[in-house]
Amino acid sequence: MTSVSPGGTIGILGGGQLGRMLAMAAARLGLRTHIYCDHPGPACDVATHTTIGAFDDMTAVTTFARAVDVVTYEFENVPLATAAAAETCSPLRPATKALEVAQDRLTEKTFVAGLGLPVAPFAAVASEADLARAIAETGVPAILKTRRLGYDGKGQAPVSSPGEARAAWTAIGGAAAILEGRIAFASEVSVLVVRAMDGAIAYYDIPRNTHSGGILRRSIVPSSLPCADADQARDIARGIAEALDYVGVLAVEMFHLPGTAAPLVVNEIAPRVHNSGHWTLDACAVSQFENHIRAVAGWPLGATTRHSDAEMDNLIGPEANDWAALAAEPGACLHLYGKNEAREGRKMGHVTRVRVRTGTPS
Ligand code: AMP
Repeated sequence: MTSVSPGGTIGILGGGQLGRMLAMAAARLGLRTHIYCDHPGPACDVATHTTIGAFDDMTAVTTFARAVDVVTYEFENVPLATAAAAETCSPLRPATKALEVAQDRLTEKTFVAGLGLPVAPFAAVASEADLARAIAETGVPAILKTRRLGYDGKGQAPVSSPGEARAAWTAIGGAAAILEGRIAFASEVSVLVVRAMDGAIAYYDIPRNTHSGGILRRSIVPSSLPCADADQARDIARGIAEALDYVGVLAVEMFHLPGTAAPLVVNEIAPRVHNSGHWTLDACAVSQFENHIRAVAGWPLGATTRHSDAEMDNLIGPEANDWAALAAEPGACLHLYGKNEAREGRKMGHVTRVRVRTGTPS
C-alpha cells in the first residue's frame, strides 16, 4: 500500500471550489497539491502548482501525473481516457470504475439496482419513439434526464402525462436519456462516507438537503432521520462504496419516504467530496475534504465526529454580495470561492451557521 508522506504531492483533476477546499485541507497536513484543469479556477489560487491544459491533451495529462504521488479528481465528468492516461503514471484514487458508473445515469441506476438497492423505476430512452414505451414502464409523473453531463438540474424535463413526451424530449435536446418515475419523497438526505485504502469506513452525520431548481440550497444536521432509517442509509452507502472498492469520500444522495417499505431510495452518487458535506469544515473534527485527502494519500481516516449543529446555505450568484453582513454575523462561518463574476446560478460560496452542542460546562 503506497502512502504519500508530508511534503508529497496530491494531483487533482479539476480546478473548481471542491479542488480549492481539497487543496486547503492537504496544506494543513503538510501535503502539496498540483491542479490540472482546462481553465484557471478557484483551486488555482491556493494550490502549490497548476497545469492548465485540455483534458484530451494526453501528453500534458501524463506529464502532470508523473509529477505527483497520487491523482484524485474533484468532478465526475473527467473523461475516462484522461483518467486512464493519468493512471499509467500514478495511482488513481478513487479508481476509474467510480467515474464510469457516475458519468452515465443509466449505468449508475443499473449498477445500484444490481446491488439490490432501491432506486426509482427507470427506463432507457434512446429516441422520441422510445419515450412512449418508457412512460408505460415507469408511469407518470416522471422526469426525463439526459444520461450524461446533467448536473444541478440541467438536462432534465418533467413528464406529467404522456402528452408531454414530445416537449420533454425537445427540452433535453433529444439526447440519450433515462426516464425516472417521480418519487413522492418527504425529504432528501445524503450519506457522506469515506473509505480508506485498507477498507476502513467512516460516515458523517446525515444531512437533510433542500434543492431548488435542481441546485442544492441548504443542508442541515442533525436531520432527525429515525435511527433505523439512518442505519439503512449508511448500509446502502457502504454497499456502494465496497462494490466500487472505493477510496476517498463518496456521496450518495437519497430520497426519504418515512414509514414506507423502502424508506430510502438512491437518487445518485457522486464519486467525490460533495456540496452537502461542506458543513463538515466547521462542524466536525475532520472535514470531508481532509478525510478525502487522508484516504487517497493512504493515511488513517480522521474522526468524522460532529461537535456542532449546522445549517449550510449556498451563496448563489449575487447572494455572495452580502459577504460583509455575513462576515459580521455571530456564529456564521463564511466561505468564498474567489470567483470574480457572480453569474446567475453560479455557486460563489457558502455560509455555515453553527451551534456548538453543549456538553459538560467548563
Ligand atoms: P438530480 O440531478 O438527478 O440529482 O436531480 C436534481 C433534483 O431533482 C433532486 O435533488 C430532486 O430534488 C429532483 N429529482 C430528481 N430525480 C427525481 C425523482 N426521480 N423523483 C423526484 N424528484 C427527483
